[in-house]
Order: sequence, then structure tokens, then C-alpha cells
Amino acid sequence: MSRLYLDNNSTTPMLPEVAEALAHAPGGNPASAHRTGAAARLALDTARSTIAECLGCHPDEVVFTSGATEANNLALFGLADGFHSMESPIIYVSPIEHPSVLEPCRQLALLQFKLIELPVDSRGHAQFVSRPSERSLVTVQLANHETGVVQDIAMLRRHCHLSAFHTDATQAVGKIPVRFHDLGVSTLACSAHKFHGPQGIGALIVNRCVQLRPRTFGGHQQLGRRPGTEPVALAVGMAVALKIASVEMNARRDRCLHLRRLFLDHLTSRKIQFIINGDPDHGLPHTLNLAFPGCANDLLFIRLDLAGVDCSTGSACSSGSLLPSPVLQAMKVSDDVLASSMRFSLSHLLSDVEVVDVAKRIAHEVEMLRSRS
Ligand code: PMP
Repeated sequence: MSRLYLDNNSTTPMLPEVAEALAHAPGGNPASAHRTGAAARLALDTARSTIAECLGCHPDEVVFTSGATEANNLALFGLADGFHSMESPIIYVSPIEHPSVLEPCRQLALLQFKLIELPVDSRGHAQFVSRPSERSLVTVQLANHETGVVQDIAMLRRHCHLSAFHTDATQAVGKIPVRFHDLGVSTLACSAHKFHGPQGIGALIVNRCVQLRPRTFGGHQQLGRRPGTEPVALAVGMAVALKIASVEMNARRDRCLHLRRLFLDHLTSRKIQFIINGDPDHGLPHTLNLAFPGCANDLLFIRLDLAGVDCSTGSACSSGSLLPSPVLQAMKVSDDVLASSMRFSLSHLLSDVEVVDVAKRIAHEVEMLRSRS
């Protein structure tokens, strides 16, 4: 029995074109003055320019990191440093953020910041109750890792134009158009392995006008914002993956919407009762978060794993522990929905036949569980 992968929000398979680019990237240290170093520097600069072009920012605003966890930490601690002379600064955070945003905010709350959680409505949209002042650091993600709900960051940003503003765009980049300067944020995090690039590289985009204190010291690379020898091959791979994702974005979106319809139609034709969590009108095209009331999601997860289906009960970081989803809890879904929700994240690489096959396997396992309860 073949395995069917519906966990693309956790990580995506690397494209052959990316593997090829990695294999042929020049060796050498981009900081070296000799010709081997110059070749590495050229490859790195070209990758940086490609990424900047795809994300609507300047090349010198791209800071390579090891992924989005590091980028989120660099942004939040780096921006927070600008507040050290202020009295009672505030961090506003949406409770549906990824742990790599929530945990740094909690750490900052142990220092000098007051932490305020933004309310989230039942469809997964973060809201402001009051207007944050210039003594505030705001962090709201662009797209949610569990429900795929896309926030209107440009609008939220306008609402708190005086504050420093970070957005975690890890699930959005490569999936929907993301233009850094149109969003107007101070910093933006992304990660290559979410858009069929290599694992181990991401970027923090830092507005030229923003002062960011580094987290690590000891080198001049990347204007001192993230010192250390840059991983040239990984940067080249990230640029190739992002360029292909940008060129193919509309076609991939249409393909995922088609596959999603096929998937849901099959469940409906089998009379499988389900509830869609989130906001399908403002969501990532490939992400489906479904509740199957009456089916415990931990049991369904195990049954699906045995049936060859890779999916998740929440973010990858919690999928091993099968804890209730903090995202769905913040959306105040009912206990039954909370205990029976699963995340299926598709990709344009799946065939129609595979998607119908996976829907059949899911329908079968849901029917089996329901017949026992
Ligand atoms: N933010 C979001 C929204 C994510 O989904 C993830 C990955 N699960 C991360 C940050 C962390 O990304 P990375 O694996 O590159 O550290």
C-alpha cells in the first residue's frame, strides 16, 4: 500500500530542480577574497536578489537564517531591544501564532514587557480591541499553520502604524502573493522547506529603516544582523524553490482548489459528516482543517497512519503529543470539534487518483470509528 502525504504544512518534498541547484552550487566561502570565494559570493548575491524580487523587498533587507523558528526569534528579540529605555512596553500577540512566536513573547514577558493576547473570532481572524501605541510590539501571522486562515496584515498594520510589527509568513510565502513593502511591516519570517525548498534555511526580511539587535555576535556577515558563514548552496536552493513557486503560484492554487473540491466531494458522496474549521473564503488553497464529530482525532490519526495516510492533528510540533489544538481553542470551537479535528494539507504534486484514494481511506476510517461508538 502506497503512502499518501497530506502533511505539506509540516514540510514539503524538495523539488528535483532544487536538489539539482543544490548539487551544482559553488563551494567556497563568500567572505574569501580569492576567486573561489567570489564565485560563492556571486551565487549568494544572486539568490538574495531573486528572493527579494519574489517577496517585494530590497536585497539588503533579506537576512538568511536556519529557518522560521530562528527568524521569528531574531525578529522578536531584535525588535524588543529597541524598547529597553521605555517604560512598560507592550507586546500584542495573537494566540494562534506558532510556538516559535508565542514562546519568545512569553520570554519577553518575563523581562520588561506586558503581554496582551489579541482576541480571535470563531473563523480564526485576530482583532484589536484598542489601538496599540508607539510603546508596542505587535506580532500577527500572515497565514495559520493549522487552519490556513489568512489575516489581513496590511489592514492590521495600518491600525497600529505607530508600533513595531512582525509577521510570521512561513505558511503564506510560496502559496499566496506576499509583498513585504505592501504589507508595511517591520519584519517578516519565512522558511524554504514549506515551499519545496531545502530544510535548514529561511529568511527574516528586515525593513531598511528598522534597527534590529542581533542574537549572535562574532562576524560581519549579513551586515552583522546574523553573523556566520552563509550557507550558499541552501540559499541557492531556497531561491530556486521560491522563484518556481512564484511563477507557478496561480496554477498551483487552481490545482489545489480542484483537489480540495475532489476530496470534499468524495467525503460528501460517502455521507461522511464533517465541519470545516476556519474561513475557506480567506484561507490557503491547500489547507483543510476538518472536524469529524464523534471521532476522537487521536484514534483517527493512528488509524490513518496505519492506513498509509500522513496528516496531522495540529502543528507538527504538537502532532507527536496529540495535545488539543491551541489554535482551535482560541477560536472557541466546541469540545466535540476540538477533540475530532484533523489537518489535511495538500500539494499540487498530488494526482486526482491519489486524492480520491486518500479520501476513500479517510472515509473508511471515519466510518469504522463511528460504527464503534
Ligand atoms: N511558523 C509557522 C507558522 C510554521 O508553520 C512553522 C513550521 N511548523 C514555523 C514557524 C517554524 O519553521 P521552521 O521549521 O523553519 O523553523
